[in-house]
Amino acid sequence: MEKISVVVPCYNEEETVSIFYQEITKTIEKMKKQVTFELIFINDGSKDKTLEKIRELALKDKKVRYISFSRNFGKEAAMLAGLEHATGDYITTMDVDLQDPPELLEEMYRLIKEEKYDCVATKSTSRNGYSFFRKFCTKWYYRIIQKFSKIEMVSGARDFRLMTRQMVNAVLSMKEYNRYSKGLFSFVGFDTKWIEYENQERVAGTTKWSFWKLFTYAFDGITAFSTMPLVLSAFLGVLFCLIAFILILIIILKTLVWGDPVSGWPSLACIIFLVSGVQLFCLGISGYYLSKTYLETKARPIYIIKETEKDVV
Ligand code: UDP
Ligand code: MG
Repeated sequence: MEKISVVVPCYNEEETVSIFYQEITKTIEKMKKQVTFELIFINDGSKDKTLEKIRELALKDKKVRYISFSRNFGKEAAMLAGLEHATGDYITTMDVDLQDPPELLEEMYRLIKEEKYDCVATKSTSRNGYSFFRKFCTKWYYRIIQKFSKIEMVSGARDFRLMTRQMVNAVLSMKEYNRYSKGLFSFVGFDTKWIEYENQERVAGTTKWSFWKLFTYAFDGITAFSTMPLVLSAFLGVLFCLIAFILILIIILKTLVWGDPVSGWPSLACIIFLVSGVQLFCLGISGYYLSKTYLETKARPIYIIKETEKDVV
């Protein structure tokens, strides 16, 4: 029988792990005639009792496997570890807070098996439960990234998707250090079916993403799949040269016509501020790309494993 690997990143999720396990077990029971399951929990350096909870599950249920990191490496690293260690014919990544309803797996599996898709991905139709500010930022972020990068970025896309082994191998063949999965999944291509559902609220616990974490993640997403900011900074440079050229002409003309009264100090100060601001901004953009290159060339491991289910079972 074929096997589905369920990859579940967990960071400080002691409250949700067992609820998630109960819910997914129902789906596993329902689908047990068609397919077997393997659950891979990734403990991303949690500081609470998450690892103990996962260990308990692994001891009583041999479908449960886990990988525990030596510290918090982030959700991207956790998903990568899961994909690398999964042994199933189909692989799905989902959140442990039940914002990705496990019961959808049945339909997703059917779409792959019967309609021969390589991947079934999900997006949420609404963003209920998120603050107005976060909704606003997300909306604009997707608008910008869709303009900037050549690959398709779907607004409202979640990390919950079921993929064939072939597609996962393609994703794993990309060894980059700065990983942005939404982009990588889109980059590899393959036939993807998008299904939609209402956004679910987290069953327990709190979100692990601060605004700042989301902001830098969003910026990483743009830089990982587009060099447009560099083009933009070069464009700004040209624009400012043009403006300067016109200003020079105006000043020469004014001096020739009205003589050279010493005035215009405030405007000069403003111009210096503006121009140096734009320069620093552009320098920052180049620096950001350079720093990404620096991290890539170091080729450090993306995550470090401290313990797996083999250590206890
Ligand atoms: N997560 C993780 N490492 C992190 C942050 C989050 O493994 O550094 C996991 C978290 O445990 C959850 C999933 O990523 O299973 C999504 O996180 P969360 O629900 O907090 O994000 P939100 O749904 O609010 O965007
Ligand atoms: Mg969540």
